[in-house]
Amino acid sequence: MSTSQNITQDNSSPIATDQLHRYLFANKYARGELVQLKQCYQAVLANHNYPQGVKQLLGELLVASSLLTATLKFSGEISIQLQGDGPVGYMVVNSTMLSDDNNAGNNHQQVRAIAKLKNTTNVVGLNELIGQGNMVITIRPTKGEAYQGIVALDKPTLAECLSHYFAVSEQIPTQICLFTDIEQELAAGCLLQLLPDGDDKEQQLADFEHLSQLTNTIKRDEIFSLSANELLYRLYHQEEVQLYQPQTINYKCGCSKEKCLTAISQLDVAEIKPILAEQGKISMTCEYCKTTYDFDEQKLAGLIAKH
Ligand SMILES: [Zn+2]
Repeated sequence: MSTSQNITQDNSSPIATDQLHRYLFANKYARGELVQLKQCYQAVLANHNYPQGVKQLLGELLVASSLLTATLKFSGEISIQLQGDGPVGYMVVNSTMLSDDNNAGNNHQQVRAIAKLKNTTNVVGLNELIGQGNMVITIRPTKGEAYQGIVALDKPTLAECLSHYFAVSEQIPTQICLFTDIEQELAAGCLLQLLPDGDDKEQQLADFEHLSQLTNTIKRDEIFSLSANELLYRLYHQEEVQLYQPQTINYKCGCSKEKCLTAISQLDVAEIKPILAEQGKISMTCEYCKTTYDFDEQKLAGLIAKH
């Protein structure tokens, strides 16, 4: 069981970035999430010279992925990919939920992300960058079957596309807000979701509508500067809000020498030998983090000898 505490007027604590906060509205059949990202967003942008619009959309996708990953009730991986006929060929966030089954409050997320551009672009906005396209959400639980959902990107913003996805596929009213500050390389967002039960649906929807209006008053500079407690108190001080222990979110690429070696072993030795002869090594660069792994003839000797 995870512990929780009610939000208070205390505004002394500083903002803690790269954390995801989950909370419950007592007696209101609604739950929420708030995430404020700094280091992991900066790590995603590092070593890539992305145009401004791409940086912004990548930040929104990273936040959306954190919010969705936190809804998983099991360990596993989730990937969210945007793809279409626009200047960005695709954009993807891979997120892994690592959970300790005995302590569900102490889950944490590992993320990495990349955007692949067909050509450089100065445009800004989901439809302008992705064009006609869709969002593919793939969930792979550590135990059990993988699941894939496809969402048409036919709304003006990523937040609206995701809200629509929840409304249509899950039949759950969900509000999602996504913010980025590309100058300071900060990204943040929140989610509000109805937790319906069989009783008074009309009242539950009215309550959700009220909370949704409060959520809409969130300001850009607040979500980038206030601690979770302070921000939630600002928004919902008339409500009883139980705040759970936060999840941490770390950037981790997951590439390794071993994985590269496995990829090289799939190649034909006839392809490897001329490169080794000419360059003295085989180099592989990870597209996500731009780490280069070099393998000289000695390191590849075992591989070559097998053929
Ligand atoms: Zn990497």
